[in-house]
Formats: sequence, structure tokens, C-alpha cells
Amino acid sequence: MMYEFLLKPEELAIRDKVRQFVKDEIPSQMLREMDLSNIESGRWLVEKAGSRGILGLRFPFEYGGQAMNWVTDIAATEETGVVGFAPSCAYVMPSIVGEALNLFGTEDQKKRYLVPTLKGKLYSAEALTEPRGGADFFGATTTAIKDGDFFVLNGEKRFVVGAQDSDWFLVYAKSDPDARPHDSISCFIVERSFGIEVQNIYQLLGARGGGTGRLLFKDVRVPRENLVGELNGAYSIFNKMMIPERLLPSAGIIGLARAALEVAARYTTRRKAFDQTINNFQAVSFMVADSVTMLDAARALCFTAARKADLGQDTRRLVSEAKKFATDSSWGVINNAMQIMGGIGYTSIYPIERHLRDARLGMIWTGTNQIMSLLIQHEYYKDLKNSQGLTRDVEGDALNSEQEEEKHYG
Ligand SMILES: Cc1cc2nc3c(=O)[nH]c(=O)nc-3n(C[C@H](O)[C@H](O)[C@H](O)COP(=O)(O)OP(=O)(O)OC[C@H]3O[C@@H](n4cnc5c(N)ncnc54)[C@H](O)[C@@H]3O)c2cc1C
Repeated sequence: MMYEFLLKPEELAIRDKVRQFVKDEIPSQMLREMDLSNIESGRWLVEKAGSRGILGLRFPFEYGGQAMNWVTDIAATEETGVVGFAPSCAYVMPSIVGEALNLFGTEDQKKRYLVPTLKGKLYSAEALTEPRGGADFFGATTTAIKDGDFFVLNGEKRFVVGAQDSDWFLVYAKSDPDARPHDSISCFIVERSFGIEVQNIYQLLGARGGGTGRLLFKDVRVPRENLVGELNGAYSIFNKMMIPERLLPSAGIIGLARAALEVAARYTTRRKAFDQTINNFQAVSFMVADSVTMLDAARALCFTAARKADLGQDTRRLVSEAKKFATDSSWGVINNAMQIMGGIGYTSIYPIERHLRDARLGMIWTGTNQIMSLLIQHEYYKDLKNSQGLTRDVEGDALNSEQEEEKHYG
């Protein structure tokens, strides 16, 4: 593999442990049952992974993690993507909601929720999206109104993976509806047993078996001690949580595409047309070349974003680029894999069709790729402004740059 030189031996060892887990401990039958929606939960995988100590690799040992870095986490997560988006999502969920608890939670919250979640004993989910819109997250309308030692939640969340059987949900809700949007939301740990109503109404194109559903909050009473971080301060939690939310599924989808490409590339060395194996046709092998290049470029972007996160620096632009590029590229790679295989690739004889269905979600969830573009251009223009005067004035190199009167800006 091309990127292994970037990992230290102990980091590679963890990646290999996860790779081995994926190779030996995830039965194909479970993946089929999930794809058929006969199983609507990734709990079985989280329980197994938790018992092997491979969930939430970045978190400290005392909370059940492995005290590793972001780079290791994404290298390991790529391996889980090989078996599909829903299992990989189940694997990363403790790492996503765990980020909020690890950085903002109280010691008591960490002990009661983070530790058992990373051991695979509690199953968790995140509830951000509402029927009125996911992109406009800070326009949320679910309310959390203080009542003595409780917050009373009312509203609705949708498309929540793990809705069907999670033990607890990380829920964002408006605690100060009159404040400006970024100062109006708080984050809560809400146990299923507090009285959340769940509706299972979705048939999904792909990424099936994760128990995606709708949550209804009707006067759900959440004890004060389950408020995560500051009251009305969920903006900073959201920002931190968006790093694993976007980076880990990006690594997962690279694994998904990598697996599809491997199936297709092996096929080309066996399948014959016109008395020769089809890898001899450049029309075929160049699709492999393009795909490998896209995957390596996507992985490089993810690693760069992860390295920056490891340095504690702002990753908004790189994480958004990684999410957008990894999901767009993986879709292209899996599409190529299907094309390479001809008609049989379109059938359920090979897993490519499932990978293609799974991959489509990547461009939509955890912030659509349009929202990623919004963030990327915003950060780029900011950087551009900040670098003004620090680099060479290239405009001055034009043959007729002195013709100032021709430089009209409207
Ligand atoms: C299978 C599945 C699982 C999911 N899992 C979860 C989960 O576990 N938890 C959770 O909270 N959410 C989850 N989601 C929700 C997902 O993150 C949202 O669907 C996504 O963020 C988009 O929100 P929306 O569907 O409301 O679309 P909208 O926000 O209505 O957007 C519609 C379209 O408008 C575009 N758009 C909106 N605003 C802008 C803008 N300012 N600039 C440019 N374009 C814009 C969008 O890009 C999109 O194309 C899941 C979704 C699916 C389908």
C-alpha cells in the first residue's frame, strides 16, 4: 500500500489489527442481512470491535481508547469501509459522538457514557438533522427548555442512523430560541429510556441495515447533568465534532471504493474478450489507472487533514476538501469498477452494485458536498486575503501589465 511509509510501526500495528478484524470477524452473512434490511443495527459489530479494543482509537486509555492520533484513526477506518458504509458508520459512530464527550464532557459523563460506548457495551447515535433541513443546521427548531434540574425537549430529528436501537443519542437542540443562531443551541446526552419515540419509515438506496429512523421528542425530560459543555455553547462542540463526522467517513468510503476496484482489477486479469484478458485493453486498464490515482489523491488529502488535526491546527478547509474529494472520487472509482466488469458488475453476483448504492450517500450526508464547497471557498478567500502582499505580484508579470486603464472591475 502506498501510504504505509507515513505510519510509525505502532500506528501500523493498530491499522493491521483493524484490518485483521475486518478480514476474519465480519461474516459475509451479516453484511447480506444488513443489505436486505433483515438486520437494522450495527450493534453486533460495535460489540465485537469494542471487545477487541479498537473503537475510538484517538481517545485516552482511561476512557477505553488507544491514545493514538488522527492519522492512525483514518488508516484504521479505511479498513472498515471495505465491508460497506453501514458497518463502517457503526464503527465510527463512537468516535464521532465520543469526540464531543472527550473534549467537552464532564468526568461523570465520560465514565457513564464514553467508557461503556468505547467498550461496545452501549450503542450510540447522533441526532442533528431535522425535517426542515440539515444544511441549515443552526436553524434547528427542536427546543430544550429549562425546567428546574431538567431540560424538556420537544421536536423532531430525522435520518438518524442507529435510531432503531441506540441506547443513547447525542442531540442538539435550541435552548435559547431568541438568541442569534450560533448562540442558541445546546448539546445533550439523551438516553432512549428518557422517552424518545422512534419511527422507522425509510427504505434506503444503500448503506442499509444501520437502523436509520426518525426521532420524536414530546416533553422528553433530560437531567441537567446530561448537558454537554456550556449551555447555548454547542457551536464549539459542533465544530469539533465535524472533524470526525467528515474525516472518518471519508476514510471509510476510500476503503469502500478500494475494495470495489480490487474486485474489478482482479476480474480484468481473468476475464477474456477477443482471446485475451481484458486488462490488455488500455480502455480497461486506464480506467484502473485513473481510479488508483483518484484514490491515492483522496487518501493523500485525508492524511494531510488528519496530520493537521494532529498538530491541533484549524482543519476546516482541509477536512471539507477531503470529504468532498474522497466522496466524489470514490463514487467515480466504483462507477469505473462497474464499467470494467461489464454486465455482471451490475448484478448481485459481485458486490460492486452494493458498493455503488452505498457510495451515493457519501456526497449527501455529514454535510452535502455543496456545503463542503461553501466552506472551502469561504476559507480559501480568507487565506487569500491574509496572504495579500506576502507573495510575488504575478499580475505584474503580464506582457502589458502596465495598461492599468484596461483593468476594469465593473
Ligand atoms: C441514510 C442517511 C443517514 C443519515 N444519518 C444521519 C445521522 O445519523 N444523524 C443526522 O443528524 N443526520 C443524518 N443524515 C442527514 C444528512 O446529514 C442530511 O440529509 C444532509 O446534511 C442534508 O440535509 P437535508 O437532507 O435536510 O438537505 P437540505 O439541507 O434540505 O439540502 C437540500 C439541497 O440544498 C442544498 N443546499 C442547502 N443549503 C445550501 C447552501 N447554503 N448552499 C448550497 N447548497 C445548499 C444541499 O446541498 C442539497 O443539495 C443522514 C442522511 C441520510 C440520507
